[in-house]
Amino acid sequence: MTIYTGPVFEMARQQFQVIADYLEVPTDERDRLLYPKRAVAVSCPIHRDDGSTAVFQGYRVQHHLTLGPTKGGTRFAKNVDIGEVAALAVWMSWKCALAGLPYGGAKGGVTVDPYSLSRRELEALSRRYMQEMIPFVGPHTDVMAPDMGTNEQVMAWFMDTYSMHQGHSVTEIVTGKPVALGGTEGRREATGRGVVYLIERALDRLGMSPSGATAIVQGFGNVGSVTALTLQKHGTKVLGASDHTAAYYDPKGLDIEAMDKWVAQHGTLKGYSKESLIDPNEMLLQKCDILVPAAVERVITAENANKLQCRILAEGANGPTTPDADLLLHDRGDIFVIPDILANSGGVIVSYFEWVQDLQQFFWGEAEVNDKLNRVLEKAFNQVMRRVDKDKVPHRTAAMAIGVEKVRDAKRTRGLFP
Ligand code: GLU
Repeated sequence: MTIYTGPVFEMARQQFQVIADYLEVPTDERDRLLYPKRAVAVSCPIHRDDGSTAVFQGYRVQHHLTLGPTKGGTRFAKNVDIGEVAALAVWMSWKCALAGLPYGGAKGGVTVDPYSLSRRELEALSRRYMQEMIPFVGPHTDVMAPDMGTNEQVMAWFMDTYSMHQGHSVTEIVTGKPVALGGTEGRREATGRGVVYLIERALDRLGMSPSGATAIVQGFGNVGSVTALTLQKHGTKVLGASDHTAAYYDPKGLDIEAMDKWVAQHGTLKGYSKESLIDPNEMLLQKCDILVPAAVERVITAENANKLQCRILAEGANGPTTPDADLLLHDRGDIFVIPDILANSGGVIVSYFEWVQDLQQFFWGEAEVNDKLNRVLEKAFNQVMRRVDKDKVPHRTAAMAIGVEKVRDAKRTRGLFP
């Protein structure tokens, strides 16, 4: 029996079984590797602006602490549940291990539509959530970061709440903070920049170049918008872009800078243009060189996997492709998949740099951050491709296997206590 149920955890479990079979992990070691070390569920009451009281459910799942503290974002979204948060924590573990970071995976979440809150209500919820988590987190226990529905401001409130409790500033308790409060240069752009860096490594392997290539990006949050902007800056034509309110497609290419300005003013893409509107599901199926799902889980499924017309699938989101779709993509054999735990790892890699800088109180410039980021990504990409070439396995299998192996070896070497 497990509390970790629902389609997203089921995905993480199925993916893990594939890896465990491939690595021939003995059956009695599997549960120890897959199931989270601990999970916390909290109620977060806040005063609403109208004087009423509302209670929101919050979670934090810490997958393993074998290699160091746990690390992962906090998601504020309508459909967050413990199963989803646990799956995201498990993926963080494989992601951190693949990148060689001294972390286990974690994830947190609050079941709330953050767009329905005023700024004051959002601050109250953020502070209360951190307050409830104080006994369970710490710079050497569990380090939070942004994810869907949270941003630098929320991280600043988390940091302030924790620090007020300690009686001194503890900047290293969260990453993704504003630069003025101990954040690092380059963190905000890191995930999108990493996605583009890896896309360009993939293009290179396929004998293609960024200029003249075409892309479609689903999601226009921190990951999708920076990915689309960077692609365009590097000469790639972005044909399609969308968020949860609207999808746009123009075979001549969209003006991503104009869209980014629109979102800065209006909050979402809704109302940006009437001419280039497209059905969001149709957008994914349009012909392009690079398709970047950078929004939510489970958007590439058994229904649409055979209809995709891209050459590269770069997973900016966590868990965008279901295991059923993975099988179809593997059978097709014509799509170069950059799996999520590699594609979007730039975010947590620069979070690691932020934590290191905070611990040392010694800060780096943006060029140094980006240079170090590229080196870590390059190493991870090459490791994955070597494994693919050697064992003829799908890219996701290779990437996850490298992560799972590291965690398994660390657990074996440390032993089981008592
Ligand atoms: N939420 C991001 C992710 O899914 C970043 C996590 C972090 O920076 O710790 O990878």
